[in-house]
Amino acid sequence: CGIVGYIGFREAWPIVIKGLKRLEYRGYDSAGIALINNGDLNIFKKAGKVNELENFAEGKDLAGTIGMGHTRWATHGAPSDRNSHPHTSNNGRLSIIHNGIIENYAVLKEELLSRGHIFNSDTDTEVLIHLIEEIYKNEHNDLLEAVRLALKEVSGAYAIVVMDQDNPDQLIAARKGSPMVIGVGQGEYFIASDATPIIEYTKNVIYLNDNEIAFLKRDELMIKRLDNVVQTPYIQELELKL
Ligand code: GLU
Repeated sequence: CGIVGYIGFREAWPIVIKGLKRLEYRGYDSAGIALINNGDLNIFKKAGKVNELENFAEGKDLAGTIGMGHTRWATHGAPSDRNSHPHTSNNGRLSIIHNGIIENYAVLKEELLSRGHIFNSDTDTEVLIHLIEEIYKNEHNDLLEAVRLALKEVSGAYAIVVMDQDNPDQLIAARKGSPMVIGVGQGEYFIASDATPIIEYTKNVIYLNDNEIAFLKRDELMIKRLDNVVQTPYIQELELKL
């Protein structure tokens, strides 16, 4: 039910944890975070509150300047550790967080099962990351294109963030029917379901529109539509209401 993402020069974990807490008011049953550090994708997830995720992660290696976090309101699959987000592809390289519902997940899952995919959760979300993985194989390291083509196969509502262990300098975010805001910093970007996790870092935000995908690097932002037309980002200034 809540999404937070970060790519920049600061440690991602504290920013993402704090952001998830700011989104707690939306309600949720589980929480999880993915980080990339030194070429490793590290995932921490737990049913329960963000506090429990913090306790679980205590003492573990939480380094990394790119990360994403999720609070889940279960729709497909019971609230549990294994159904918590982030979910990963079969090769373990790709990771996704998702708010919303993939309506045609059952058909897609059947097709992916027949291609040898093994699923580790009961969620609709996991189907999407396997689909992206399947398409990515043919897209010559162009994850953005793989995500775009995968989303064209999907019906339903979503806000997603995707990370790739082999491309640790990029985040991909997309939305349709679920809100998503991008905070624009200097050498850093923030992603969140609403502006509350972002406002203490930057007042410059972009509200992603339905059917748009954002490609974020530390010093580069590109937005295109699902039909592949590149968009000019409209940066708004948040008004601080104190
Ligand atoms: N449909 C997904 C799930 O059940 C995401 C739910 C949400 O929006 O948090 O895992």
